[in-house]
This record gives sequence, structure tokens and C-alpha cells, in this order.
Amino acid sequence: MIALASDTEGPRKWAPEDTDSESEDHEKLTYVITEPCIDLKDASCLDVCPVDCIYTTDADNQYFIHPDECIDCGACESVCPVSAIFPEDAVPDKWKQYTEMNKVYFNK
Ligand code: SF4
Repeated sequence: MIALASDTEGPRKWAPEDTDSESEDHEKLTYVITEPCIDLKDASCLDVCPVDCIYTTDADNQYFIHPDECIDCGACESVCPVSAIFPEDAVPDKWKQYTEMNKVYFNK
């Protein structure tokens, strides 16, 4: 004798896909260093970054934040004397290209 589990067709529920998950849907954020850093390289950010994820070389004219290493603490943003550092989602439109430049810098 074989018992089959069948005929359990109850009412079907249709659930729409997440309609209000926007606030929970953030990928890892990073901070971005923009134009005011160029040729200034004040370096205050280096002193406060808890994970040492801000890099440059003598050949570079600005600092760069490693997007995978940044823990999004915001410490650098508040000490930058020229307000060059922004959370990725708040970079001013005129400096949007710096987000990509920071990422490209680490893909050399
Ligand atoms: Fe470093 Fe924090 Fe600035 Fe990221 S946000 S670069 S972890 S100081």
C-alpha cells in the first residue's frame, strides 16, 4: 500500500515581491575622497581611520579609500579640513566621477 500525499490544493496565496525593502537593501557602503583633496593631501584622515584603508603614493595627487576595506565609520569625513570625503551615496553630483576613480585605483 502506498499512501500518496496529494490533493492538498488549498487556497493559493500570491505574495507580491518586496514592496518596501528599500531601506534594508543597501550594499556595503564606502566613503569616497573627492576633488578638494587633490594636491592638498592633508592626511588628517589617515590618523583617524581605524582600519588603515586610505592609500596614496608619492606619484598620486590625492588619497584614495579602499572600497572593500572601508568599514563605513565616517571618522575621516569629520576630520577632513576641506570636506573632501563623503559617503558613497552622498557624493555631490559634480564629483560623482571620484567614486569610480577610487574603485579603479585599487583595480590597477
Ligand atoms: Fe577609514 Fe572610516 Fe573613513 Fe572608511 S569611513 S576610510 S574606515 S575612517
